[in-house]
Amino acid sequence: MKNNCLEIVRQKCENCNGCALASTRNNIVFSDGNASTARIVLIGEAPGEMEDETGRPFVGRAGQLLTQFLTEAGISRDEDLYIINTVKCRPPENRVPTDEEKMACRKFLNAQIDIIKPDAIILCGATALKSFVTLDKKQTISKVRGQWMTVTVDGVDYKAMTIFHPSYLLRNHSMDEGSPRRLMQQDLKNIKDTILPDVNHTQSNNNLVFGTLTAKV
Ligand code: SF4
Repeated sequence: MKNNCLEIVRQKCENCNGCALASTRNNIVFSDGNASTARIVLIGEAPGEMEDETGRPFVGRAGQLLTQFLTEAGISRDEDLYIINTVKCRPPENRVPTDEEKMACRKFLNAQIDIIKPDAIILCGATALKSFVTLDKKQTISKVRGQWMTVTVDGVDYKAMTIFHPSYLLRNHSMDEGSPRRLMQQDLKNIKDTILPDVNHTQSNNNLVFGTLTAKV
């Protein structure tokens, strides 16, 4: 049922010319993950070059790093998450999508959340955060991340947490206490323990040693 509804939305998205990004895209980047089993919707910023080529979100270096963090936290990208972006088409030169572009694409984002009806939403990075929350001048993603909050989508309240975008972590390799990578690790563990306490993936991640693995990316 969910997949049928999402397919209708996807087809509308395929034919969308709602903003200027339609003229430069190769593919829309609609979603990844499993709509039937996902209990969490993760929202990123916008498709990059590889995403535009493949039609899948978070498949470049940042996406690979995100997958590693998720796996280590015991969250399955393929089973627990439904992954989307604030806009479905790649902004030229990977620039941040404009407010107008995000507004034009919001109907697809809202429809996807409404169909999935997740137990929680992860806002991945500042662009996703600002799509749902108006920050005052003192608030930054560093201060807001890791806190549970409520976001409202089409009149429905959802539990939500902001985490760093993995592209930020690609520029910050430290695993010291208080470092962005360490905070990412803590936030995802919090999400796993709060939203998926009954989930125990038995994937063979015995060889995943956090410090050494993430240092490669
Ligand atoms: S970004 Fe969204 S609104 Fe703009 S053309 Fe693509 S699908 Fe349509």
